[in-house]
Amino acid sequence: MNDCIFCKIIQGKVSSEFVYESDTVVAFNDVNPIAPVHVLIIPKKHIESMNDIDTDNNMVIADMFAVAVEIAKQKSIDNDGYKLLIRTGKNGGQEVPHIHLHLIGGALLHEDIHPVI
Ligand code: 5GP
Ligand code: ZN
Repeated sequence: MNDCIFCKIIQGKVSSEFVYESDTVVAFNDVNPIAPVHVLIIPKKHIESMNDIDTDNNMVIADMFAVAVEIAKQKSIDNDGYKLLIRTGKNGGQEVPHIHLHLIGGALLHEDIHPVI
């Protein structure tokens, strides 16, 4: 019914170790990291993209950002800094149609090395 890879991860049908879980969100390491810390924070409820955020569900976005900051602190990358990214749609480079917030850090991110982020 639901072919979404991130929903399958939430349901435990695709294996992934959660680095964080709450009632509303889960976080796990990106399978193809572009930095020493590359965590994806996603809502448990399937929401395709930022275009589907409205006044009924926008609290989950706040939850995702709060969890990202908490993980950044846990991993001690908060002081040196990190990048938070949500890609949206084709031109935004979104590959997985289930909203996800990238937490990227642990090393200096040069724009010329990662021009797409
Ligand atoms: P997007 O381009 O949609 O913003 O990012 C999708 C991200 O999901 C990519 O960085 C990709 O490596 C990651 N990804 C895709 N499939 C899986 C998966 O099955 N497991 C994990 N852990 N990450 C995935
Ligand atoms: Zn999904």
